[in-house]
Amino acid sequence: MHPFESHIRNVPDFPKAGIMFKDITPLLQERFPEVIEAMSQGIDWSKVDYVVGIESRGFILGAAMAQLKGKGFIPMRKKGKLPPPVIAETYALEYGTDTLEMIKEEKPGRVVLVDDVLATGGTLKAAAALCEKNKLHVEGMALLINLTFLNKFKEEGKPVHSVLNY
Ligand code: AMP
Repeated sequence: MHPFESHIRNVPDFPKAGIMFKDITPLLQERFPEVIEAMSQGIDWSKVDYVVGIESRGFILGAAMAQLKGKGFIPMRKKGKLPPPVIAETYALEYGTDTLEMIKEEKPGRVVLVDDVLATGGTLKAAAALCEKNKLHVEGMALLINLTFLNKFKEEGKPVHSVLNY
């Protein structure tokens, strides 16, 4: 068992029935520097200009990774939080849709996308598409947890770096 695992709380039926929620707050509280270190490995940082963090746990992890590696940080937010000019990507959920936004870029860059949990992959796919639409080439994606049984990112050969895989 990975030493981080004992600090992750499995919460059944949150936020809705049938979901086993991975609560990472105890892990952040007890092992934050080691988590950031582990998430930053396996990425060629010489090819990266910025870290893009996905709201909201991606902010906590991504901002710390950017600091560790001396890179700038770009927030990717839920609809309506960022001032114009923004660029948006809408994606399908089980019921309805969701929209991610980021500030429109003036010039191209290379980024690492950061979030806490990769589940079905809908969020990360939309986030990657939004970056590419916004002139930001995705060099890699870093997750703390990959629920591999819910997505096909590894089989599809996407550049995913995850610390804990289920
Ligand atoms: P998905 O789009 O299905 O890959 O879901 C990813 C987003 O939902 C991430 O931003 C996670 O924070 C959150 N999420 C999905 N499933 C879980 C889970 N089992 N435990 C904790 N967070 C989750």
